[in-house]
Amino acid sequence: MSRVYNFSAGPAVLPEEVLKEAAAEMLDYNGTGMSVMEMSHRSKAFEEIIKTAEQDIRDLMKIPDNYKVLFLQGGASQQFAMIPMNLMKNKVADYIVTGQWAKKAWQEASKYGKANKIASSEDETFSYIPDCSDLPISEDADYVYICENNTIYGTKFKTLPNTKGKTLVADVSSCFLSEPVDVSKYGIIYGGVQKNVGPAGMVIVIIREDLITDDVLEGTPTMLKFKTHADADSLYNTPPAYNIYICGKVFKWLKKMGGLEKMKELNEKKAKILYDFLDESKLFKGTVRKEDRSLMNVPFVTGDADMDAKFVKEAKEAGFENLKGHRSVGGMRASIYNAMPIEGVEKLVEFMKKFEKENA
Ligand SMILES: *Cc1c(COP(=O)(O)O)cnc(C)c1O
Repeated sequence: MSRVYNFSAGPAVLPEEVLKEAAAEMLDYNGTGMSVMEMSHRSKAFEEIIKTAEQDIRDLMKIPDNYKVLFLQGGASQQFAMIPMNLMKNKVADYIVTGQWAKKAWQEASKYGKANKIASSEDETFSYIPDCSDLPISEDADYVYICENNTIYGTKFKTLPNTKGKTLVADVSSCFLSEPVDVSKYGIIYGGVQKNVGPAGMVIVIIREDLITDDVLEGTPTMLKFKTHADADSLYNTPPAYNIYICGKVFKWLKKMGGLEKMKELNEKKAKILYDFLDESKLFKGTVRKEDRSLMNVPFVTGDADMDAKFVKEAKEAGFENLKGHRSVGGMRASIYNAMPIEGVEKLVEFMKKFEKENA
């Protein structure tokens, strides 16, 4: 067996310890004589798995009691519709468009009401976060929407927008559990888990209870109502059971690592190694305004598409996988999520230095 350093933006690297545990429990979970994949979601064993997972994410994020934690299917993209369907009482929402995912969410919301684009950084290829201290928030906005960490462009909101009292909704898919957050500042925080937490196909939605109502847009399917899932503790129908099990293991791993304060420290240390090199390199350079740099996704370029391709190819041969940038931007991107060990980043930088010398 040999494992590579996997810099994929998602699905992405998971803690090796978690994968090993899951492998050891594959045929017989905790004396049940079956895999979690084969288990009834109404069984005692699974009830324990989902309850423990919920409690652990509550502990990690210090989630207040008036918030529900929902484990739902459909990935992050399904929330692009589910959020307006459940929250657009006045049929008005304000969107801050800082990348492809925010843009998709804004476009989807436009199907259900008036979705105002109140700020954007598209003029400079989403390479920065606009000033959100005094935006023209709509008087009757049901919520203000952001994508907090922009996976494709490598930017992150370092301060939350001033929503002037309106409910803040945030997609945190690619910065989920990477640092502490103050949940009470948001109405909804949600993330697809395949970036930083678990296997693809599940989204975790942390939602303030007053936003969970029967007053949803006409025609909203039962499965797309937050209330359906909140009332049933995410067991209205068969949930993504194996995903919940793996996420639960990642939560335990995060607790063992020292929690989110510690993860932030580690993530800052890892990102600094790469950004410091990018700032001194003559060949490579970062593409994002410094103050808006993400700790999780680090895009960079050489300025020459052939040189970029050569780098990606040689890096792959050396055991550094998935460094090619998103198809919409080109260049390179290293995603350095929680489970990427610091040695992975150190070795990548060593390799980049060597490549720079050879190609000077
Ligand atoms: C990957 C990603 C999505 C889409 O996730 P799916 O689970 O594929 O729907 C949405 N938002 C962000 C920020 C992402 O990184």
